[in-house]
Order: sequence, then C-alpha cells, then structure tokens
Amino acid sequence: MLKGKTAIVTGSSSGIGLGVARALAGQGANIMLNGFGDTPETVAKLKTEFAAMGVKVDYNPADVTKPDQLAAMVDAAHKNLGGVDILVNNAGIQFVSPIDQFPIEKWDAVIATNLSSAFYATRLVLDAMKTKGWGRVINIASAHGLVASAGKSAYVAAKHGIVGFTKVTALESAGTGVTSNAICPGWVLTPLVQKQIDAIVAKDGISNAQASEKLLSEKQPSKQFVTPEQIGGLAVFLCSDAAAQITGSAYSIDGGWVAQ
Ligand code: NAD
Repeated sequence: MLKGKTAIVTGSSSGIGLGVARALAGQGANIMLNGFGDTPETVAKLKTEFAAMGVKVDYNPADVTKPDQLAAMVDAAHKNLGGVDILVNNAGIQFVSPIDQFPIEKWDAVIATNLSSAFYATRLVLDAMKTKGWGRVINIASAHGLVASAGKSAYVAAKHGIVGFTKVTALESAGTGVTSNAICPGWVLTPLVQKQIDAIVAKDGISNAQASEKLLSEKQPSKQFVTPEQIGGLAVFLCSDAAAQITGSAYSIDGGWVAQ
C-alpha cells in the first residue's frame, strides 16, 4: 500500500516509534529512522532488519529539539530516500514531579522534545507534500493530550499542545491531499513507561508485575497494555485511502482510559 512512499519516524529506535516504523515498512514504505544517543550496534541492527523487509532505510541521529538537525534529516530523506511523504512526530520524554518542585530545565526539555519538535519538523515537509498532492502527518500524542494526571504538568501541556497543533496543521492543509492526525495511546509497555513502573517498585516495595498491575488499574480499564504493533496498525490505517478525509482528529487507543 505504501510502496514508493517515504516516512520519517522520529524516535524510532525504540518503543512506539519502532512499532510504527515496522508497520509502515511492512506496507512497503522507505524509512528514515531516528533516535537520540543510539549505539552504532543498535543502528546497524535496525538497518539490517529494515533492509531485510525490502525497503530503503536510513538512520539520522537528529536531536528533535534542534531545528537545524531536523532540517539536515529532512534533506537526507530527500537525497537518500526520495522525499518525505509521511512524517510521524513520535519522539518524546517524560518527567514526573509536582509543579512547585518541577525543575525549569526539565519543563523546557519536555516541551521542546514533545511539542516544539513537531512544529520544527512539520514546517519543513508540508510544502513538498502539498505540491505532490499527498501527505500524512501523524503526531503521537497521548491520553494525556485529552485528560490530565497529577505530576505530569509539562507532559500534559505538551500533549494537549500537540493535539491543538495537529488541528491547525489539518486546517492549513485541508483539500490538498495532506492530512494531519494525532494518535492518543494509553499505557504502552516501553522503556518510557518501564521507568514509571520501576519508580512504583522502589516506592511501594512491590514486584514488577504488581507495579504494572497498579499502574494499569489506576487509568486503563482494560488493564492490558496497548502494543506498539497496534499503534503501528492505526498509523497504517491513517495512511490508507479510507482515511483520506480523516484530518484534524485525535484517535484514542487506550483500553478505555479517556472514556471514564
Ligand atoms: P521510548 O523511550 O521507548 O522511545 C523514545 C524514542 O524517542 C527513542 O527512540 C529516543 O531515542 C527518542 N528520543 C528521545 N529524545 C529525543 C530527541 N531529543 N531527539 C531524537 N529522538 C529522541 O518512548 P515511547 O514510550 O515509545 O514513547 C514514544 C512517544 O509515545 C512519546 O512521544 C510518548 O510521549 C508517547 N506515548 C507513550 C506512551 C507509553 O505508554 N509508552 C503513551 C502515550 C504516548
């Protein structure tokens, strides 16, 4: 379905981004992988995996908080992979603290990585997508783009912000063949969430399994993790012809989290 198209997936060396990149490559899309601080071994392994799927693959170490590095990655996608048809703004970080103790540099880092990065990247690809008459911008937001949790002020602000940015992108692209949508996952068991489970283990002195159960029980009625593969499946759907008129939407994939 996506043969001949190229996708940049930020933060695709791990977790959800990797799941989305695999799903898009599974449909034939060429992939620009990206991540922060990945070892040469990790990069080589990922490149081998994607090349074996029969697609073109490149890796760029752009720090998504740096506009010039994102520009270099977009240029590399044009030069090495034939352009950018699909942009998945996925890279993200978390920091948990009450507002009155939230370090200012952590606030700035969460906003830069989870929100400003999407603006920096989207502005570089929209024109070419509109000229081609086809494009997909997919922003990985969160259930926290729709509802809040205590302790996550910067993350919730960034994720609500990216849902809003998704809508503006949709309005400015309407009728051009370019769509912009957000995906709002609930808990997905990735390194980002494992850190939060580890914090519960340390605080409550319980096992990893008990801490996972506790984390899920607080928010996610299904009490099951969403998987990166399921999010990849939703991203593929948003790239399909069936989704050509879906734009400006925020799709929940959260085991019922925001239905409460
Ligand atoms: P993860 O920690 O497994 O992966 C994060 C990826 O982002 C890694 O590849 C990392 O290298 C990359 N990254 C981090 N900072 C970067 C930077 N400055 N420049 C370039 N790359 C950078 O995390 P994940 O859980 O897969 O999260 C991916 C996205 O999904 C994030 O935006 C996160 O907020 C969102 N999300 C996650 C969950 C969850 O439960 N895991 C739920 C909802 C939303």
